[in-house]
Amino acid sequence: MRRWPLWQLRPRLRAYVLAVIVTGGGAVIVAAAFTPWRARDGVVYAFLLAFGAVTVETARRAGEPAGGIKDAQGVWEIAAALLLPPFYALTGPIVVFVLLQWRVRRSLAYRRVFSAAAIGLSTGAASLAFHSAWRRPALLPAGRSGALAWVVLAIACAVLRFVVNSALVVSAIKLDDPAARTRDLLGGREGLANDTAEVCVGVLVAFAAAITPLMLIVALPCGTLLQRSASHAQLLHASRTDAKTGLLAAVTWQREAAVQVARALRTRTPLAVAMVDIDHFKAVNDTYGHLAGDGVLQAVARILSAGMREYDLAGRFGGEEFSLLLPHADGTEALSIAERLRAALAVIPLPGGSEAGDRPHITVSIGVAALTDGISDLTDLLAAADTALYRAKRSGRNAVRLADHPPARPEQAR
Ligand code: GH3
Ligand code: MG
Ligand code: MG
Repeated sequence: MRRWPLWQLRPRLRAYVLAVIVTGGGAVIVAAAFTPWRARDGVVYAFLLAFGAVTVETARRAGEPAGGIKDAQGVWEIAAALLLPPFYALTGPIVVFVLLQWRVRRSLAYRRVFSAAAIGLSTGAASLAFHSAWRRPALLPAGRSGALAWVVLAIACAVLRFVVNSALVVSAIKLDDPAARTRDLLGGREGLANDTAEVCVGVLVAFAAAITPLMLIVALPCGTLLQRSASHAQLLHASRTDAKTGLLAAVTWQREAAVQVARALRTRTPLAVAMVDIDHFKAVNDTYGHLAGDGVLQAVARILSAGMREYDLAGRFGGEEFSLLLPHADGTEALSIAERLRAALAVIPLPGGSEAGDRPHITVSIGVAALTDGISDLTDLLAAADTALYRAKRSGRNAVRLADHPPARPEQAR
């Protein structure tokens, strides 16, 4: 048991995780003792669990990593909290997390159990709050104002579920990593939009099902659609960016740069590109290891992004090469931007060195090319910048070179 991953956590975090799990388990037992067992509730619960299972399968089919992509389980959990006594809200997530573990991806067992307990407790709290105000929430009150009050209270309880769950999860992460920022942990604006949609659809589904449980069948596509739209936004972002550096992925950069080059040629406005290549990067990997190499790539990306103008476009061209699009910059201006970036990058330290002064650091070579008469598209421009980069390397590295005018012919390019 001492070798369980749970036992390898910091003592404070381990105590917290265990406390949440034990509280969740205790809440299930207490709730079971107070639950009036009704066949109609059992049928609604079975439907909602089935929808939860469909949501899990949708994630599995799309090849989405468990937990990596936001799912729409919240819709069914909110509906359960509003329609059924707290016992069902507390136990529903257990079934879902067993399915996730079995069908999508195996994860550390204590993490799954903790997540199920945290979601169970928060959904149970929402259910308890709602049922304290409405003795039979599955029956809508008569009259328009009664229905409005039902909806307002339902939204408040769904928000309570979000707040309790976020507090439970954020506390665990902060116990593990005190430097983690709460804003990042909540998933930013995109995450909040997803959670808001989940609350709204969950309340809508519960409202419709309170009129007649048959409406649950109509609700299923709403949940799966919500899940797809949430994962679409995330996948779109992932496909556009390079995961390691956060810069644009090569394909995205080239697609967007090609459009801007065509526009600049059409409108006869200046534009330049720069190819940045880290000097002797293989030696960095060989000397300090690939993880240190990755750290250097990330530092380069950070400095490039910080040093560029708002409308410039930085991409990871491949390996240790970066491509920059500099709209409205002619050769001279692009050269000075590149020189500024070269100097800024040359301070990225490498591990080792005793004094701050003799810390080894990286250098980069940059090839710059601006639109001129001989250039008709992005490919020409990149070839010219690549040739200039080769000249920078041959000149001894840690240098910036501007492409010849007219551009070098392809056979001269490296
Ligand atoms: P030069 O000054 O001529 O550019 O020499 P170089 O060593 O930088 O160039 P070379 O093309 O020989 O080596 C590039 C190295 O970049 C080899 C490869 O292992 C490394 N590399 C490419 N992608 C990554 C990555 O994502 N992470 C790490 N750590 N290394 C990478
Ligand atoms: Mg290279
Ligand atoms: Mg290199």
